[in-house]
Amino acid sequence: MCRRCPRLVAWRERVARDKRAAFADEDYWGRGVPSFGDPEAAILVVGLAPAAHGANRTGRMFTGDRSGDWLYRALYRAGLSNQAAGRYAADGLELRGVYVTAAVRCAPPGNKPTPEERRNCRPYLERELAQLGMVKVIVALGGFAFSQVLRIHRDRGVEIVRPAPRFGHGVEVALGKGTVLMGSYHPSQQNTFTGRLTESMFDAIWLRALELSELT
Ligand code: SF4
Repeated sequence: MCRRCPRLVAWRERVARDKRAAFADEDYWGRGVPSFGDPEAAILVVGLAPAAHGANRTGRMFTGDRSGDWLYRALYRAGLSNQAAGRYAADGLELRGVYVTAAVRCAPPGNKPTPEERRNCRPYLERELAQLGMVKVIVALGGFAFSQVLRIHRDRGVEIVRPAPRFGHGVEVALGKGTVLMGSYHPSQQNTFTGRLTESMFDAIWLRALELSELT
């Protein structure tokens, strides 16, 4: 069990101990959250980090909170999963052609990892990128994940247009070898409650990812 980030280790364990009242009778995961999905995925989804009472509770990425509800509903609408909801780790959800990970694997206070924590966790994402050999589209949910994916590829020697593309909803960046990075607004409540991200805007991301990945 990784304990490289003292602040995040303290936070993930404190949240798991104190719990939210609504989940008082549940055992929280309270550790780094493993990624989840199809090992032969053509689409890789990269989020920011687990939510304190979502994935840090259930032990599966984007599971047990409103962001995950949005994500898994959208993947289902796009034909990329077998069910529309992801509520707990053993709920039978299966992703088809999609793998879900995050730039940072432990829940950060205020959903804000520090640059050092981002660097600490980077090898896990790098390893996944190396292992998932069939990925053609990387969908970064939010600017933090978008920048981290760009950074990793640039440091690997991948030629990326300069100036660096700015994160935006629907922005596409060629990463070489036919792989494309796509930006999407994160399905956080901050974005979905305010209408910054609507379901039709989110659906457009998955339709485009399907097109680029030739999964259709
Ligand atoms: S955030 Fe990543 S590097 Fe830091 S403790 Fe968690 S798993 Fe380890």
